[in-house]
Amino acid sequence: MLEIKNLHVGLEEEDKQILKGVNLTVETGKVHAIMGPNGSGKSTLSYVLSGKDGYEVTDGSAELQGVDVLDMEPEERAAAGLFLAFQYPVEIPGVGNMTFLRTAVNAQRKARGEEELSAAEFLKVVRAKAKSLKIDADMLKRPVNVGFSGGEKKRNEILQMAMLEPKMCILDETDSGLDVDAMKLVAEGVNALRDAGRSFLVITHYQRLLDHIKPDVVHIMADGKIVKTGGPELALEVENNGYADILAEVA
Ligand code: ADP
Ligand code: MG
Ligand code: MG
Repeated sequence: MLEIKNLHVGLEEEDKQILKGVNLTVETGKVHAIMGPNGSGKSTLSYVLSGKDGYEVTDGSAELQGVDVLDMEPEERAAAGLFLAFQYPVEIPGVGNMTFLRTAVNAQRKARGEEELSAAEFLKVVRAKAKSLKIDADMLKRPVNVGFSGGEKKRNEILQMAMLEPKMCILDETDSGLDVDAMKLVAEGVNALRDAGRSFLVITHYQRLLDHIKPDVVHIMADGKIVKTGGPELALEVENNGYADILAEVA
């Protein structure tokens, strides 16, 4: 599904390397987790994959189902099936949440050569999906994320993901700032989307989300590289001993 080879990324504005040779293969239908200390480059990886400005790819490649995404516009990446749930969801004053979702869904369908959903069809789907994430009608009517609590913003990211039905879902610290109940809701939302044809990259600083979203593979990222890969037990090792032991071991 996703194949990243030797990815080197720096900043456009400054002479600073952030990703220093990331290699990562996420198989179709699998859930991979990336853990790592603050500042190791986890968000940068997710931003570069989704096409955020300000970064410069200096070497390497990233292919989604065999197609290099790094030269595509963000909306082309989305149309190709890539989705990023932000660590810090953006507020969009003046744009209703429902309007935003419907525009995104229909743009996606158009890019895939599918018919647009009618207003009635869209309402039916969005209401059902919002309900399962405990997002009420009021939150659907308000401007995107404006005045939403931290937990509501993260749930809204999962609603976007559920509506767009991407193939490759990247979740950047979707658990940060959530209480246990909100985290469970988010995890249930993700688990409901798990499918043989869909892959996930779950970025998290802490292990607790992975109690609820069981990963197939766990990677540790440090200083711009994946330094260790293992099974779910690797996340428990981090939980018990922190990152220091693993970093000392790979140093
Ligand atoms: P993580 O998500 O693992 O905490 P980030 O990808 O956010 O790490 O950041 C990796 C490193 O790159 C940090 O040292 C961060 O300060 C730096 N960095 C990322 N983006 C920028 C930017 N736009 N300007 C300056 N430094 C940045
Ligand atoms: Mg981050
Ligand atoms: Mg650019």
